[in-house]
Amino acid sequence: SGILMVQVRVAQVTPRHVLVLAEDLTQARRIEAMRRDFVVNVSHELKTPVGALQLLAETVHDAADDPDAVRRFTDRMQAEAARLSALVHEIIELSRLQVAGAVGQVAVVDVDAVLAEAVDRARTRADAKKVRLDIGGVHGTRVLGQHDLLVTAVRNLVDNAVAYSGEAAHVGVGVREVDGLVEIAVVDEGIGIPAAEQERVFERFYRVDPARSRDTGGTGLGLSIVKHVAADHGGDVAVWSQPGRGSTFTIRLPRADLTSSDVVDLTSTT
Ligand code: ADP
Repeated sequence: SGILMVQVRVAQVTPRHVLVLAEDLTQARRIEAMRRDFVVNVSHELKTPVGALQLLAETVHDAADDPDAVRRFTDRMQAEAARLSALVHEIIELSRLQVAGAVGQVAVVDVDAVLAEAVDRARTRADAKKVRLDIGGVHGTRVLGQHDLLVTAVRNLVDNAVAYSGEAAHVGVGVREVDGLVEIAVVDEGIGIPAAEQERVFERFYRVDPARSRDTGGTGLGLSIVKHVAADHGGDVAVWSQPGRGSTFTIRLPRADLTSSDVVDLTSTT
């Protein structure tokens, strides 16, 4: 908005003079409002699994002499606890990433290794759905950043690709270099995303179909984590999708061109 908010502080300097300090609060207010929104959203999201656990605990208590019921309800408690744990983990990850400069120490990262590790971690879920998961080729591409953060980002995309695909579908992960940019693509042939929702899926807690997302154990934070990781690495993330045909998510990052002039001695302070 065009409104300028200032905080004015007045101090009496001499009996006849005051000092007036005006501080621009527009930016500070905006960040404050974002933080408040986040806290409200988080509280709302936490209430659901916590409420479910409370209810299930009461039910188990009342069904103590029915072993089958106890097993059924404790299974559901386990699932809710796992959801809650994933949610807390992602909230912490996201709040860490929202701090500017979260990437901190950068290193030369081998993109092939990032893809291999991300796919490795998604393998169990893919196998459970008989989803064929493969990486297209090895490229020796390098970027500057943090290996672990990039693994988290690619893994979130692969987990989604598996979650929003049918049984025995195919998910492909690949990397290529275009115009000096590194493009990491995760391609699925799943349910797809309606055009009108494609921009919104990167928002915190946004889900196209909350009921389905709940089934898949989704938190609604995965893609906003991907977006932050990409941005913190000087890149971005984009989606191409057609409902019923599938989706392709692409993380684009600047390539690390390692010539000797790029090697800087970080221990030197001059
Ligand atoms: P979630 O934890 O719910 O998967 P994300 O932030 O990762 O949260 O994704 C947000 C929403 O975007 C999901 O709820 C889902 O509706 C949609 N989505 C994400 N990835 C895909 C995909 N590969 N195919 C179809 N829909 C997807």
